[in-house]
Amino acid sequence: MDKPLSPGATIGILGGGQLGRMLAMAAARLGYRVAILDPAADSPAAQLADTFINAAYDDAAALGRLADLCDVVTYEFENVPVATARLLAERRLVFPPPEALETAQDRLTEKIFLNAAGISTAAFLSVDSEDDLARGLRSFSGNGVLKTRRMGYDGKGQRVFRSAAPADIAGAVAAMGGVPLILEALVPFTKEVSVIAARGSDGAVAVYDPVENEHRNGILHRSSVPAAITPQTAQAVREAASGILNALSYVGVIGVEFFVLGDGGVLVNEIAPRVHNSGHWTEAACAISQFEQHVRAVAGLPLGATGRHSDCVMENLIGDDVLRAPDLLREPDLVLHLYGKPDIRPGRKMGHFTRITSR
Ligand code: AMP
Repeated sequence: MDKPLSPGATIGILGGGQLGRMLAMAAARLGYRVAILDPAADSPAAQLADTFINAAYDDAAALGRLADLCDVVTYEFENVPVATARLLAERRLVFPPPEALETAQDRLTEKIFLNAAGISTAAFLSVDSEDDLARGLRSFSGNGVLKTRRMGYDGKGQRVFRSAAPADIAGAVAAMGGVPLILEALVPFTKEVSVIAARGSDGAVAVYDPVENEHRNGILHRSSVPAAITPQTAQAVREAASGILNALSYVGVIGVEFFVLGDGGVLVNEIAPRVHNSGHWTEAACAISQFEQHVRAVAGLPLGATGRHSDCVMENLIGDDVLRAPDLLREPDLVLHLYGKPDIRPGRKMGHFTRITSR
């Protein structure tokens, strides 16, 4: 980017969920306008957008309108079609680059990219048949996770195997819906950590502190900062995140999820080319949140400092959990964030809070 976006310029965001909403808030604080495109009429981000385009991601006329309105385009959802990002990139800068989106959308492509960049992952192989699955499970001593290559999130589209017995394998490939699959070796991890990192348009890289994550029913429940890991493990996490950003010539914020092994080594589980749920704590415990950091990056502004002024624990409010909000607000040193979703549904992310645990 030759020069930063001027105040009053418009940032386009593909996707209008809570991540888009929090990006819109950060953009507003830096003096920018936002235009959001989302297929759902009741998108949380629409409430805060200067312009809301309620259209499908492949609606060429709507994308043309978005390009007309915006100075730069970003996305908050990694399953935005790559063709959409590429179409917009013909007219406007699109950050993170569409290649990053393409890499992250397919677990097989993602792992091949990571390994080529010198970053370790679980052993894996592509699965198109029960023979592939049987061979793969035998090579992983019977322990593996079968996943859809695309569109999986929050543990959806996955099946764990603990044996290569024919009875377990029979029907397993068809049951995944006839889509391309990947088998990963089952990793005997001791904990799961993630890190939020950013790369500016000048190539500067900034990495937040790694966090420790706990999942419930496949959905992130709690992120604790700092993670209880050794300095060597934290350094390996930071180096992997920086390596990924540089290898993708990335601009924007990325979330990288890791498995920590018994010997302190790490394997990358997956990358999210966007702001990430496990980075929500930054709005409460850092001067510059992941949302502002992303806006800074895509607007061509200098990246902000990633230092943490407090230890903290972030928890998601899923479904009925949101009813705790009035009680949570009684606590000192607790930052509550609700997403403005009118209907409570089981499994739906309604908000989160960050409890500051030290100063
Ligand atoms: P994912 O959708 O790939 O993030 O997977 C969801 C969760 O499943 C992860 O957070 C892990 O707890 C577990 N998981 C995924 N892949 C593996 C693996 N290869 N080995 C062990 N556990 C896994």
